[in-house]
Amino acid sequence: MKILVTGGLGFIGSHAVVELLDDDYEVVVIDNLYNSSIDVIDNIKKITGKEFSFYQNDVCDLDALEKIFSEHKIDAVMHFAGYKAVGESVEKPILYYENNLLSTLHLCKKMIEHCCFKLIFSSSATVYGNPKVLPITEDCKVGSTTNPYGTTKWMNEKILKDITVANSNFTVIVLRYFNPIGAHKSGLIGEKPNGIPNNLMPYIVRVATGELEMLNIFGNDYDTPDGTGVRDYIHVVDLAKGHLKALEKAISSRGIYYYNLGTGIGYSVLDLVDNFEKVNHVKVPYRIIGRREGDIASCYADPSRAYKELDWKAELGLEDMMKDSYNFILKQKKG
Ligand code: NAD
Ligand code: UDP
Repeated sequence: MKILVTGGLGFIGSHAVVELLDDDYEVVVIDNLYNSSIDVIDNIKKITGKEFSFYQNDVCDLDALEKIFSEHKIDAVMHFAGYKAVGESVEKPILYYENNLLSTLHLCKKMIEHCCFKLIFSSSATVYGNPKVLPITEDCKVGSTTNPYGTTKWMNEKILKDITVANSNFTVIVLRYFNPIGAHKSGLIGEKPNGIPNNLMPYIVRVATGELEMLNIFGNDYDTPDGTGVRDYIHVVDLAKGHLKALEKAISSRGIYYYNLGTGIGYSVLDLVDNFEKVNHVKVPYRIIGRREGDIASCYADPSRAYKELDWKAELGLEDMMKDSYNFILKQKKG
């Protein structure tokens, strides 16, 4: 079975490609390298010992998609390609709406033209906005998004729903990720944001290596056990494995399905710092500063639907996430 992976050289996509190759799927990747590097190809090959096809193209480019679908009989698509920086999306909404919506529209158009009807879509817990009830189930209200990035995910979900209504063969598995962190055990692939990181985990590792002086914790006056923000951190390898389960579901079903991919456990910012220091025997100096605009107090999943219907649950714990994130960055520094 041949799977097209858009954004397959990015953080989550590269881990999904590894899992697909390990499970003997044939893989075709399209990535324009906007937020990834060509070295990831060799690193995936080193990890898996397997080959895959790569197209350095934009998913919004209909001609490039036509070429891929003509050259390969694609059975299903995992669509990771997209922009994901919340702050940047506020500054550049047109860029975000254009890339995140057009890529999906053009991809679906070409899929249908080439009779490929199975899609796994990367959505986000951000579609739930500021949750009224915790843990968050898939039936919680969506759409009260607080930034253009989140709105692109919600709009994608609506577009995909309409496409499944109009095309009875078309099947979509919408995966709403919570907070993916960690890296592959090998230390060969992981998350390497350009510039100063916005997200907590990449920031912590850069403080630990001494590249950044100290972590700024955005507020300790939230209504949480220690006052700092609580999130559901999930190991990227667990997340990637969830995509293979979603693929099996897509192959055997019709229609559109929604799943939370999280652990169901909420950890605070201070929990992460403490755990990181203990596991890696390194100090992470921090100071408390004001809240970050748009942040919410707590967000964690009820992942039970994915367990019941996909037979998937997260296996790796916080210690693995801390260890693997640090291992990846140390290996990168060594070159
Ligand atoms: P990433 O930026 O590491 O990977 C995305 C990849 O897509 C990159 O390699 C980039 O070069 C590529 N890309 C972007 N636009 C493209 C285009 N038009 N054509 C071709 N390639 C393109 O991001 P990630 O963390 O791996 O996230 C993957 C998906 O999961 C994204 O859709 C993201 O919004 C979603 N998501 C991520 C998180 C997270 O915290 N990482 C959480 C929820 C949802
Ligand atoms: N956070 C922080 N300092 C940072 C980055 C993040 O205190 O430099 C906090 C943030 O306020 C939130 C948690 O860490 O409570 C997770 O933030 P992240 O940006 O990683 O994910 P998201 O807010 O998208 O869930």
